[in-house]
Amino acid sequence: MLNKKTVDDINVKGKRVLVRCDFNVPLKAGVITDENRLVAALPTIKKLIADGGKVILCSHLGKPKGEAKPELSLAPVAVRLSELLGTEVKFAADDCVVGPNAKAAVEAMNDGDVVLLQNTRYRAEETKNGEALSKELASLADVFVNDAFGTAHRAHSSNVGVTQFLDGPCVVGYLMEKEIQFLGNAVDDPKRPFVAILGGAKVADKLNVISNLLEKCDTLIIGGGMAYTFLKAKGYEVGKSLLDETKIDYCKEMIEKAEKLGKQLLLPIDAVCTDVFPDPIDAAIDTITVDADKIPADKMGMDIGPKTIALYTDAVKSAKTVVWNGPMGVFENPTLAVGTKAVAAALAETEAVTVIGGGDSAAAVNQLGYGSKMTHISTGGGASLEFLEGKDLPGVVAANDK
Ligand code: ATP
Repeated sequence: MLNKKTVDDINVKGKRVLVRCDFNVPLKAGVITDENRLVAALPTIKKLIADGGKVILCSHLGKPKGEAKPELSLAPVAVRLSELLGTEVKFAADDCVVGPNAKAAVEAMNDGDVVLLQNTRYRAEETKNGEALSKELASLADVFVNDAFGTAHRAHSSNVGVTQFLDGPCVVGYLMEKEIQFLGNAVDDPKRPFVAILGGAKVADKLNVISNLLEKCDTLIIGGGMAYTFLKAKGYEVGKSLLDETKIDYCKEMIEKAEKLGKQLLLPIDAVCTDVFPDPIDAAIDTITVDADKIPADKMGMDIGPKTIALYTDAVKSAKTVVWNGPMGVFENPTLAVGTKAVAAALAETEAVTVIGGGDSAAAVNQLGYGSKMTHISTGGGASLEFLEGKDLPGVVAANDK
């Protein structure tokens, strides 16, 4: 399915290998609070070390917007990676990313050594796919490996531009290969019934995903804030719930499309409502639960209710493949996290292939301790969504074909 060369197709012995990783991890006061992305990057790095490559790692972290921001330095990543790999990862701290420190560190490398460059987004050209940074990065290496699935939906210097200026092979790493295989198989060659679950705040963010998944799945389940525009499209009043007036017609079209294709489109049949949006988001809050066609004018739907939970978890029970992206409610608030938790638990219990599309749903699954029960949890929220839309990912396209 993935017609791209991988790290298994190249010989890196004695070569300088630039590896674009996704080390965009959450940091609190310099401490990494979730290291899933570091762990996910290890197989490729270990393979390149074992094969005798000179392994030069690079990544972005957060949004420094073209400036050196010490709180977004990759220094803590170098420390933790050294521990995880059991070998020193030398940090080349140049604010311009490819500067005297990086060049000297690469010059001094022996086979199997590992160097980490500074945050690529310290340079403004990075997110513009600028030529200067692309060329500088290419000048450090003989071979390029892209293993950053989380940024694969963007064409930036460190994942796309660099491939244009490097003479040697440009391939994908094991994480990228795994992500594409799991997401690709789930969507394009699913064991059926195939149930897709979409949640999150806005319909507008997921227009193409809804349309594309409707064609591929057997049942499409809608939850979260986006469900209320669908309910409005069915003619229900939704009170003060999140509503996108401009997308009501689109939702009507999707309801018709589902009927035409003979697909099941499940919408909430009841809702947990509040008077206001909790502030702070995790504040204690009073709720009432009503049927979906009886949301009072002064209330807002904030989570799926118990009848909807039963409907959705039943659909999951009879599925052979489930793809899930986006929470069922305002899950940041414990009172409004019941629906999201119930869906996560249903996925953890089923024998079906379960693929979690990154972002909030991945965080929810991991926080609940269900991570190991899922077939695959994507490391890329935005990238997995674009993949589910059926789009080509520039970071993958840029690698050499097999
Ligand atoms: P990511 O881009 O991280 O993958 P996502 O696809 O998981 O995001 P988003 O579209 O960003 O999801 O939406 C998540 C947000 O939607 C959460 O912060 C949640 O509080 C909010 N949300 C869920 N249900 C509702 C609701 N009924 N009303 C308002 N907001 C909601």
